[in-house]
Amino acid sequence: MQTSLHPCPCQTNPTAETTDALLSYQDCCQPYHDAFYNDDVDKVDSIRAESAQRLMRTRYSAFVLIKPEYIVKTTLPAQQNLLDIKAIEIWATETDWAGLEIVEHTPKLGKRHAKVEFKAFYIEPDGEPAAHHELSTFVKVVNKTAKEKDERWYFLDPTVAMTVTQKQPCICGSGEKFKRCCGLYS
Ligand SMILES: [Zn+2]
Ligand SMILES: [Zn+2]
Repeated sequence: MQTSLHPCPCQTNPTAETTDALLSYQDCCQPYHDAFYNDDVDKVDSIRAESAQRLMRTRYSAFVLIKPEYIVKTTLPAQQNLLDIKAIEIWATETDWAGLEIVEHTPKLGKRHAKVEFKAFYIEPDGEPAAHHELSTFVKVVNKTAKEKDERWYFLDPTVAMTVTQKQPCICGSGEKFKRCCGLYS
């Protein structure tokens, strides 16, 4: 059972050469997760991932700790209804997670995108270590109607079939054509 004082799941990196002290869950991903689960609107607004890498880490920890709602809520809003939350939960539960390595973080890609290359390690049923090696795209969505600067990073899920055409406004709400915005990265 994960407690707040244990190392955060995202801090476990089987390929790390250093033995630096690992951040505890409460000092790492827990505040982001709790803000979503507490249903406290003020908190959700005040605690948000400040970079794509930060969001990636909290999503990995959410898989390990089986928080499928967090996975859904941190995916681009236009894609959320197309996700199968039960399937995410089953996948998260059945995977024997073994750690995370952020290979490369490209924090700025064009106006509002970022990429994170990572390896999510897990143990195969036969006991062999394995890894999902992925290059994920994230998009920063700006809420233009908000009085104060309101930006939020979301995961752009490449497996979700969107019915948007290349010339339609982008699914992220940027106002640009899809093909010139998230279409470049999905
Ligand atoms: Zn963490
Ligand atoms: Zn877009």
